[in-house]
Amino acid sequence: MKAISLMYHDVVERDRSDASGFPGADAALYKLDRGQFQNHLRAIAKAVPRGPISLLNLTEIAPDEPTPLLLTFDDGGKSAFTFIADALEEVGWRGHFFIAANYIDTPSFVSAEEIRKLKRRGHIIGSHSSSHPLRMSNYSWDEMYKEWTTSIEKLSDIVGERVTVASVPGGHYSDDVAKTASLAGIERLFTSEPVMQCWTVDHCLVLGRYTIQRWTSPMIAADLASGKIAPRVRQFLFWNAKKASKAVGGRYYLKIRRSFFGTTT
Ligand SMILES: [Zn+2]
Repeated sequence: MKAISLMYHDVVERDRSDASGFPGADAALYKLDRGQFQNHLRAIAKAVPRGPISLLNLTEIAPDEPTPLLLTFDDGGKSAFTFIADALEEVGWRGHFFIAANYIDTPSFVSAEEIRKLKRRGHIIGSHSSSHPLRMSNYSWDEMYKEWTTSIEKLSDIVGERVTVASVPGGHYSDDVAKTASLAGIERLFTSEPVMQCWTVDHCLVLGRYTIQRWTSPMIAADLASGKIAPRVRQFLFWNAKKASKAVGGRYYLKIRRSFFGTTT
């Protein structure tokens, strides 16, 4: 099965990027301003007139139909409720909102009541872990499992039904991240791997996503949404080069460390 999923974060007023979601310069790289987001939606609507689908309908898509598009929003920043949902609904669309559960009811994140309202309005609510670890794949099995179970319990209590979808925080995916998610009852897990092909880990369907950053133009977003090859290949190469350089950097670090301390621990 294939799907094109776009990964957005917060949508903020210009120069007010800390008003929604995680603060700081790194998080701000993924926050769009309001006008820019609306330009993205217009460009996507033009490129994909059928619009995005809901994850709930994913298995109904026949193999000969065009690759379905899904719009996802990570972290659960306040703007999910104060702007993004309204902007989506104006064009008749719904989004998937993945919420870092420990931050619910804190000033720049959505409240429990806002999550309930989003759900009632037809948006999909999912887990984005509890504490939003930036390197979840480095966690132990038990720590990963706890991140999923505590966030699912909290979100399920809020929305009044079992939450079965999630996205991986920080983009650090591993097989164990998906296995613990599956064990915790997650049936659909979004990663940050820039691929269209979905795969299965235990009882969980795992989906890749294409990242939208502050400087992603509406045209690139529309090209990604409609499955054009060039921007997808660019993200794939960039992502894997980044992974490789981290791996090489990691080995280099260990070598230096060994030469200094004469130990591998
Ligand atoms: Zn996140």
